[in-house]
Amino acid sequence: MSRIPAERVRQVRSGPVRHEGSYVLYWMIGSRRLNHNYALQRALRWSRQLGKPLLIFEPISIGFAWSSERFVSFAVDGMREKRRRLENSGVSYLPWIETKRNLSRGLLSRLAAKACCVVTDDSCVFDLRGLVERASLHFTGRFEAVESDTLIPTAEQDRIFKTAASFRRWIHRRGAAALCEGPDASPLTSYSLGPAAVDRAALEPWAFRKSDAILDGRIPLDSLAIDTWVSPCVETPGGSLAAEERLQSFIGGSLNRYSRGKNHPDVDHGSRLAPYLHWGFISPHAVLKAVLQHEDWSPDRVNPERLARREGWWGLSPGAESFLDQLVTWRELGWNGARHDPDFGSWAGIPQWARSTLEHHVKDEREALYSCGVLEEAKTDDPIWNAAQTQLRRTGRVHSYLRMYWGKRVLSWTSDPEVAFDTLIHINNKFSLDGRDPNSTTGISWIFGRYDRAWGPERPVFGKVRFMSAANTRRKLRLNAYLEQYTSPHGVRAS
Ligand SMILES: Cc1cc2nc3c(=O)[nH]c(=O)nc-3n(C[C@H](O)[C@H](O)[C@H](O)COP(=O)(O)OP(=O)(O)OC[C@H]3O[C@@H](n4cnc5c(N)ncnc54)[C@H](O)[C@@H]3O)c2cc1C
Repeated sequence: MSRIPAERVRQVRSGPVRHEGSYVLYWMIGSRRLNHNYALQRALRWSRQLGKPLLIFEPISIGFAWSSERFVSFAVDGMREKRRRLENSGVSYLPWIETKRNLSRGLLSRLAAKACCVVTDDSCVFDLRGLVERASLHFTGRFEAVESDTLIPTAEQDRIFKTAASFRRWIHRRGAAALCEGPDASPLTSYSLGPAAVDRAALEPWAFRKSDAILDGRIPLDSLAIDTWVSPCVETPGGSLAAEERLQSFIGGSLNRYSRGKNHPDVDHGSRLAPYLHWGFISPHAVLKAVLQHEDWSPDRVNPERLARREGWWGLSPGAESFLDQLVTWRELGWNGARHDPDFGSWAGIPQWARSTLEHHVKDEREALYSCGVLEEAKTDDPIWNAAQTQLRRTGRVHSYLRMYWGKRVLSWTSDPEVAFDTLIHINNKFSLDGRDPNSTTGISWIFGRYDRAWGPERPVFGKVRFMSAANTRRKLRLNAYLEQYTSPHGVRAS
């Protein structure tokens, strides 16, 4: 078993380990996978040390903000897959779908009451940290949270990085070897402690039978009290196998063309891994490892003369360099903000220079003003924007380059920048499979000037904040086929 860095393990409650407990409980809420998972690895270590079986409990609630059939079904796909994979493995896996609002109350406490100790995921995604804090209040024994969704333990970072450039420099100085350290690929292979004794009768109040019926496909998800208008994205199934397939198909196809092709919607050479990373179906370590293996990389290829440069430091092909800059620098920058900046995710998190210039231009005439409803329905007068929004509604994603344009236009169509900020958070999180993520905040804050610099000339509405125009976007990008594909908003259920 590989080492679990101490910075990744947080004692939420440092109470005693209860040797008389029946099992070690892994409460899987962030890293929803069986591979490359430090939290699972930590739970297994406890299990071996105490000689007690492991119980993996994976719930999905229906009451979280922006919850809809789209997100719940994505999570449920992953649960079905895990259930299948663990069926004859001797490992106890307890998936649970909340079938009625607020039904989850008391369930974790009931399971934890029989546990020697509890291990969970320490994730900066949305409110998972708050959830863990609240849950731990009901438990007096040892309760640990382990961070697995970053390449760099966020506890190791000593400051809030204001730019990608300064963060990149810090990462490069830290060295490639530290980035390549990761959790075990298949921690469960040598598990031999057998199933955990779970008293199913005592769990009756939480309607496991109904939850199982949904997992078996006997009861449809849309019978639950969730928003069914935001419907599942059939072309993007959830789960680790789908994530792995996506990764392999990207590496075998688009990676080579990533640096040249990722910006053009008609070809779209992005990896589309963001939803899988967000839901924890795949680990960034696995993605990094696969890219490095494909490139036959070794540490002696690092070029110290390219330290802090966007490309060239790893010594890889241009596509892989460009991709890793997104996966390593940009993705982890979001976790740096989410972990260390109390203003991250709010208007106060936008730098002072950007807020002042936007506020200075607040009375400027807007070319149009659209309500949130009109935006959600993709009914503006801008065909490029409507296509991007239609793609979002229909497929749960927006092409990466257009996502910037999509955000900038909302700023130009709203009377107050702070309202524009909240509107973008709302629409992004309502429809995107990768929404409610630290990178949702990174991307949306970037629209308003965070992680960016002041630009000239000063423009109406935007002031010194970077501007993107429809004419320029149209000229620079290949998007005719894209516009055709997403011109009519079919594929989303009518309300
Ligand atoms: C307005 C706006 C909203 C955004 N909302 C989200 C969001 O809700 N969730 C989300 O994960 N990303 C968000 N981003 C960042 C980025 O657009 C997506 O990560 C990217 O489009 C995902 O597509 P991909 O997986 O094909 O990325 P690729 O280009 O293949 O990149 C690989 C991985 O690197 C990371 N990454 C790539 N670009 C960025 C970026 N600019 N910032 C941070 N990480 C990045 C992602 O994890 C991505 O999966 C947003 C950007 C903007 C401008």
